Amino acid sequence: MSAELDELYQSIILDHNRRPRNFRTMDDASVHADGVNPLCGDQLTVWLRLDGEQIADVSFQGSGCAISKASASLMTAAIKGKSKAEVEQLFQKFHGVVTGKHPEDAASLGSLKALGGVSRFPLRVKCASLAWHAMHAALEQDGVPPDAVSTE
Ligand code: ZN
Repeated sequence: MSAELDELYQSIILDHNRRPRNFRTMDDASVHADGVNPLCGDQLTVWLRLDGEQIADVSFQGSGCAISKASASLMTAAIKGKSKAEVEQLFQKFHGVVTGKHPEDAASLGSLKALGGVSRFPLRVKCASLAWHAMHAALEQDGVPPDAVSTE
């Protein structure tokens, strides 16, 4: 990765950490779930309002490191308005990129690829995927998702 790209990705993460999007509780949520990453001390709650198969609204709140917060913020921006099936697919891709298993998928991740660098830091992978796992757990409360995602 070039130094310029590194800087761009750094600035996306810092921006989302400083001004997290959709950082609020939700009174009319359909489902919600908590995520805890004891290795780092990150904890957050993800709320989803579902309209049939669609994510009508999503929000999160919590405290944690810059990576966990930026990742949650980027996730909410990425999944709002998408269908459950699309979100599951995105989660699979994101997971493959941050764990370094499928770096080739990074190109299709949009702003989310700013987090791809964590694959070099195994301890930060949990920070980056915490909100996604919470979102996934919340979706599961609404019935079994169309494509079960491997969480290993
Ligand atoms: Zn963390």
